[in-house]
Amino acid sequence: MHRVMIHPATYANCRNAVDQAFTLFPMDMRNKKVLIKPNVLRASNADEHIVTHPALLKAVVEKIEGLSPSQIMVGDNPGIFSYGDNEKSFIETGLMQACKGYYRNLGNHPRHLAFNPEYMAEVAVSEEILDADIVISLPKFKTHGLTVMTGAIKNSYGILPGAQKARLHQIAGTPERFHEVIVDVFCLRVPDLFIVDAVMGMEGNGPASPDLREIGLVLAADNAVALDGVIATMMGLDPSRLKFLRKAKDLGLGDYDPAMIRIEGELTVLENFKLPPLGGEAIAGNPIIQEFMDSKVKVRPMADKDLCTSCGACIDHCPVSALSMNDDDLPVVDMDLCVTCFCCQEICPEKAMRLA
Ligand code: SF4
Ligand code: SF4
Repeated sequence: MHRVMIHPATYANCRNAVDQAFTLFPMDMRNKKVLIKPNVLRASNADEHIVTHPALLKAVVEKIEGLSPSQIMVGDNPGIFSYGDNEKSFIETGLMQACKGYYRNLGNHPRHLAFNPEYMAEVAVSEEILDADIVISLPKFKTHGLTVMTGAIKNSYGILPGAQKARLHQIAGTPERFHEVIVDVFCLRVPDLFIVDAVMGMEGNGPASPDLREIGLVLAADNAVALDGVIATMMGLDPSRLKFLRKAKDLGLGDYDPAMIRIEGELTVLENFKLPPLGGEAIAGNPIIQEFMDSKVKVRPMADKDLCTSCGACIDHCPVSALSMNDDDLPVVDMDLCVTCFCCQEICPEKAMRLA
């Protein structure tokens, strides 16, 4: 039997909900490396509620500080509008301050992993995610034009640095296949605990919609399928209509059947909650978004000869060995190998690696 916590909260008092989450789902964090991953879609104002709110992140960081881990790390790889500048997204949203000095740039240390060959034979994943003993995911309660909702499973898409996200979108081709992809990415490192910012949620055509919805809750669970099933139900959706949830259940990752979930709190279906089209047409069928994504996938890293000092850091950090030094001591990319993670751009100390 899964359990999902639904706890009343404001941003001023959300520490109470966080305390309750750790009471219901206790974890021994002593001498462990803990990574906290908020949803940082892009640089924006916290009041736009596109990202996990800084107040919730701060409450989680402060809670974990009291549990004696050996290390705390906070990071995310922002989405297609903010590639190559992770810090900017954290600073503009106020999340950098909420990190209390534990911020890590997840774009700098990718590790190469085998993936579902139907889509990409390999992907680069942030090393900090793979090395953490405990991963805590902080999703935002939001709609999503391609997957209908974004919650626990979709938040893990940010473990991929750079334009791999756009590339996988493109390779998947249809919303249905993209539902499969997000579960495959989630499986690369299943987080241990999920705490959802549902104080102010988002409806309509998320994940960056102006339609905000006051919900006044924090949700938590140690199982993503059960948690996303509850979020879907609150949005007025039958969870079994969401292909990514059906796939996750088929893989044995959990169950969204209400009979298999004990609610710790009170589950209320949100009245007249505005959903994007169930087939994912809001993004998949939008030619402007498709064109934008294609443009992101086509860019290639290119070193600026006036700034590059030939230090080789980008070559050393490329997870797929796609970079090599040419005769002019300038790194050049082999686009047949490049997985467009843009880690070379993040790591370059001279800001010499441009996306062209
Ligand atoms: S990391 Fe930057 S400065 Fe160093 S070789 Fe690469 S592009 Fe040049
Ligand atoms: S060349 Fe740069 S963008 Fe391409 S895979 Fe290597 S590090 Fe990633």
